[in-house]
Amino acid sequence: MFIVMTVGATEAEILGVKSRILGEGLTPFDHQRADGVVIAVVGEMGDRKPALIERFAGLPGVASVTPISRPFKLTSREFHPEDTVIRVLDAVIGDGSLTMMAGPCSVESRDQLFETADAVAAAGATILRGGAFKPRTSPYAFQGLGVQGLRFLAEARERTGLPVITEVMEPNQVDIVAEYADILQIGTRNMQNYSLLRDVGRVARPVMLKRGYGATVEEWLMAAEYIVSSGNPNVILCERGIRTFETYTRNTMDLAAVPLLEQLTHLPVIVDPSHATGKRWLVKPLAIGGVAVGADGVMVEVHPRPDEALSDAEQQLDLVMFRDLMTAIVPIHAQVRGLGEAAAIPDA
Ligand code: PEP
Ligand code: MN
Repeated sequence: MFIVMTVGATEAEILGVKSRILGEGLTPFDHQRADGVVIAVVGEMGDRKPALIERFAGLPGVASVTPISRPFKLTSREFHPEDTVIRVLDAVIGDGSLTMMAGPCSVESRDQLFETADAVAAAGATILRGGAFKPRTSPYAFQGLGVQGLRFLAEARERTGLPVITEVMEPNQVDIVAEYADILQIGTRNMQNYSLLRDVGRVARPVMLKRGYGATVEEWLMAAEYIVSSGNPNVILCERGIRTFETYTRNTMDLAAVPLLEQLTHLPVIVDPSHATGKRWLVKPLAIGGVAVGADGVMVEVHPRPDEALSDAEQQLDLVMFRDLMTAIVPIHAQVRGLGEAAAIPDA
């Protein structure tokens, strides 16, 4: 449920309501709306709900108490109607602009990362991606450069000015990844790793939560709820394909999830056509499709020599293909968002 305070509610009245919520063994989360303060009440209520609603409604400064019908509360549009906008360095995610996250699947060397970073930055990428800790299906496959990879990412940020996003796989990696990276990524295999979700909920870095390849939209939003209810409101959702009976593509990109999420949640949504399709020639049409159905941005894997890549060789774009994608997607995004003049693409 959420409590709407009266327009003129005093600080003392707001504090009074919050301490009453805590006194009931529940947790308050306040949110400043244009028309005043709204306080979400979360926690296990069971049969007490009707009595609690009545009790909270009678407190000084309270205008109304409304139940939240969805099981996800803080991430729901019901509680938080305005879009969440996330700022990291010069990048803004969720404000209607086009977020383009690009970079290699894995950071393989300083040279490989810098070559990619320079090229994607010049082509208009807004965020640099690169895996340092890699979740690989085979324990014998390249597992990433680890902390050395994080250092290269931080150097690439200095070089290009782009914020960097990289995956954190385990709770004991959260602090070190947060020290080097600007955005933490939770991979598909960890979407329901609740201790990891709680831990990234406690750091002051935005988190991009990839959809579990077998997760429903509701399970995904409940996973996001773990992060937000642990104290981190800056969550980005990433549709990266789900597993179906189809085998021509690595996964099936659930495009319908994008407008569905737009209705259910205020969190920004990114699509990842690289992992969704597993094939480089399918990345451009699906990236465009994601933006056409309203995604806030795209994550794509880019490598200077994809065929030599140590991971996900088949799906990484080369530098020319990334530029070509940018040329195609920028005007489409502008048209979809009604921006009129297409944003300028930097010269080669
Ligand atoms: C990745 O983005 O590098 C990655 C491993 O993605 P996913 O978790 O979606 O497979
Ligand atoms: Mn990959």
